[in-house]
Amino acid sequence: MLIRSLLAVSCWLLAVGSQAADRVQYHPPVDYKITLAGNFGEPRPNHFHGGLDVKTDNVEGKHIYSIGDGYVSRLTVGISGFGNAVYVTHPEGYTSIYCHLKKFSPRLERMVHRTGKGDEQIDLRFTPLDFPVSQGQLIALSGNTGHSTGPHLHLEIHDTRTWDMMDPLEFLSPYVNDSVAPQAHSVMACPQAGEGVFNGSDNKQTFAFSSQRIEKELTAWGKVGFALWADDYMQGVYNHYGIRETILQVDGKEVFRSNVHRIPVYSNRQVNSWGDYQHWLHHKTWYMRSYIPKGVTLPILQADENDGYVLFNEERPYRVTYILRDFMGNESQYEFTVLGKKSEISPSKRTSYNVRYDRLSMISLPGMQLVIPAGMVEEGLMVVPKVGQGSVSNRYTFAQQACPLFGWAELSLAIPEGVDSSLLYIDSGGHDMGGVCQDGWITTRIRELGATYELKLKNNKE
Ligand SMILES: [Zn+2]
Repeated sequence: MLIRSLLAVSCWLLAVGSQAADRVQYHPPVDYKITLAGNFGEPRPNHFHGGLDVKTDNVEGKHIYSIGDGYVSRLTVGISGFGNAVYVTHPEGYTSIYCHLKKFSPRLERMVHRTGKGDEQIDLRFTPLDFPVSQGQLIALSGNTGHSTGPHLHLEIHDTRTWDMMDPLEFLSPYVNDSVAPQAHSVMACPQAGEGVFNGSDNKQTFAFSSQRIEKELTAWGKVGFALWADDYMQGVYNHYGIRETILQVDGKEVFRSNVHRIPVYSNRQVNSWGDYQHWLHHKTWYMRSYIPKGVTLPILQADENDGYVLFNEERPYRVTYILRDFMGNESQYEFTVLGKKSEISPSKRTSYNVRYDRLSMISLPGMQLVIPAGMVEEGLMVVPKVGQGSVSNRYTFAQQACPLFGWAELSLAIPEGVDSSLLYIDSGGHDMGGVCQDGWITTRIRELGATYELKLKNNKE
């Protein structure tokens, strides 16, 4: 066994040295034709779907195989919604993660038992010597553990060094059949407040594609962004998927392109800005914008010098074309014509911002301070705290409805006189947010401005 491990490690080191990345042929994680219940990068509230959902026939217990040579670097139980999960690190610089498993392979299962932990949460890390695996080796049985609404395999592939999420189809496309092109349902015109109008109005408006075209007469003047509601499909299954590549052209010139091939984990929550989050809140459909608001730094988006906004400043027809592609290269095109028509643009009713995308912002009231670093919002926000009466402190909220930040802000609440600070925590709608006490203040991290925050006491039964 020792000799086998040593051999595996020396092969490992050789492979790292030779950078075999693109020459490796990977093995499918299952032993039947792969069909998908979800694809990589689908927009969801607060995150992109980080991998592929591989169907397991709606049952548990399918054999799950390592897609490549490498070693089991981590085993988790009950961490980050993955249920039982196996991490395999591959010498080409990637780590594959197999989630919602029913059982690990017998050897791994023994290892979990040997730790003697019967806990709900287990997180074991291994060196290359502990569990080398070869491509196609059985590592687990599929299941429905963790945040899973039915038996399936959630498979993620990360860049081991940066931990960027990668599209697993880059590794597994030979095992997937897909000749169906994406379809657009509807386009949203987003005239910019004080700078543009669409069909004479400065409201967002949606227009459905009945075929590959919109026949309705459309007019615009000034600065307008567009957003698209579209889905990808595969033959033989009813599921729909996110769009791998979207290109927007005006009169044949590209103004915007998105390609969801790799997503840095830090930018996950910017999905709420690429997609129209407010629209999603009310309608549960994602319109993905074909322009890039200030403060949005998703590296999968590219735009022209106008950030993808279209400037209608001539009285003539503008031909607008969307090109959609899936990973396999299946392509569809959608078109509409917008007539440039001089119109009055009423000044913006927008109030000024006290939180901006490009600098640190501080919002304080007696007994409360909120510090939002730069880079947490698109453009800017006007945050007016609402104060109510809580049991231990005031109760604060910072937005009328759900308002997720791109990352963490710091909320500090003053510790009331005569309260034992060792029992204090910051509560958000019944959820313990913890808090660190210093100099009369208790401080915690928050990233949802629409939630409520107040002090509570541990053992306080109310
Ligand atoms: Zn999934």
